[in-house]
Amino acid sequence: MDKQQEFVLRTLEERDIRFVRLWFSDVLGFLKSVAVAPAELEQAFNEGIGFDGSAIEGFARVYESDMLVQPDPGTFQILPWRAESPGTARMFCDIAMPDGSPSYADPRYVLKRTLERASDLGFTFYTHPEIEFFLLQDKPTDGSRPTPADTSGYFDHTPQPVGHDFRRQAITMLESMGISVEFSHHEGGPGQQEIDLRYADALSTADNIMTFRLVMKEVALEQGVHATFMPKPFSEHPGSGMHTHLSLFEGDRNAFYEAGAEYQLSKTGRSFIAGLLKYAGETCAVTNQWVNSYKRIWGGTQRTAGAGGEAPSYICWGHNNRSALIRVPMYKPGKDQSTRVEVRSLDSACNPYLAYAVILAAGLKGIEDSLELPAGAEDDVWALSDSERRALGIRPLPQNLGEAIDLMERSELVAETLGEHVFSFFLANKRQEWESYRAEVTPFELRNNLHTL
Ligand code: GLU
Ligand code: MG
Ligand code: MG
Repeated sequence: MDKQQEFVLRTLEERDIRFVRLWFSDVLGFLKSVAVAPAELEQAFNEGIGFDGSAIEGFARVYESDMLVQPDPGTFQILPWRAESPGTARMFCDIAMPDGSPSYADPRYVLKRTLERASDLGFTFYTHPEIEFFLLQDKPTDGSRPTPADTSGYFDHTPQPVGHDFRRQAITMLESMGISVEFSHHEGGPGQQEIDLRYADALSTADNIMTFRLVMKEVALEQGVHATFMPKPFSEHPGSGMHTHLSLFEGDRNAFYEAGAEYQLSKTGRSFIAGLLKYAGETCAVTNQWVNSYKRIWGGTQRTAGAGGEAPSYICWGHNNRSALIRVPMYKPGKDQSTRVEVRSLDSACNPYLAYAVILAAGLKGIEDSLELPAGAEDDVWALSDSERRALGIRPLPQNLGEAIDLMERSELVAETLGEHVFSFFLANKRQEWESYRAEVTPFELRNNLHTL
């Protein structure tokens, strides 16, 4: 038994924890949990705890459904919303096959494997997500329109029944679970919030995002509202993105930094971005995995009006260009730590393990192949005409989930990164979603066609 495992067992006793939730993610990024009694934990650490993987979306073919959850003691946290004695705690888990080898279906393992590739090249991967979501008064399930929980807009600081209190309580809860928050504010849409987590290694960030989504939903319920991470719940308001700032470190050194270079961006940083751009189309089904995701990334320059609201629609990069897919944000001259790359396509409903894995793989491929970075776009790319964009070599992101799946299906990079099982499960699942969407007659058609045709 190692020190971290001992610490967990000791804490359980000292804090009177009677329930331990073992958490993991399914292939689509839904949080799964199995509760065990503390007495079982020693065995869980040693051998793992068996469960029937076939019950979980994407986990197993029926004939090999036995799997093991193995808790990662470094992720032990007491759950603050169940803090009353006796308490409840949680740990994230790795999933193993009965012979102890890592499960090919575990998204956390997909990310770990990609992080190992980065580490073989000498890199540690850090991420800092800006997570947007809506607070709603209701969550109708019959397809009718929800009501936002407030009427504020971008950075508004007006007294509202929920906004501030919600953010204060939510942030306090995140901090008490060891998740540091850097910024928070009201976003552009009514009821829309943004909370930015402090940068951390990508595995911790992905775990933190899973925790974050649950904490937001718990706090919302306590305040009598609902939180949703749906990418675009309202046609006329911006959607919820999860812009993520990325950096690669070699030991203590920021590999994206070069003193005196344009935007302080090193050759490694430039090739990394070139990789992100080259593979943006084929990785899009993973970073934007729902039919609804594509309603968000159909852009618009306005934060409040227009369809997209500062979500990217075209594959290009820029410095302070919010219409670009990739932005090299403002930096502090001479400050090497602040040089980083912001990817703006991801939405808050992605599977963070898989999304960070494909992004990292694309960037690393750019570095390995020494890809040249094309010229940056400093214009508002939404305002250009199609032929102007073509002349600049700027391609659009996939326009819908169907197109994104077609691109992914032909992608060696994504197949290799996800592994055969996750790759084919993901494609089959998403193809099904796209096909049932295609077959549905929508309110749009009824509104526009029924009276005129
Ligand atoms: N809500 C926008 C999006 O969907 C982002 C707004 C911002 O720049 O923070 O990406
Ligand atoms: Mg934002
Ligand atoms: Mg941003």
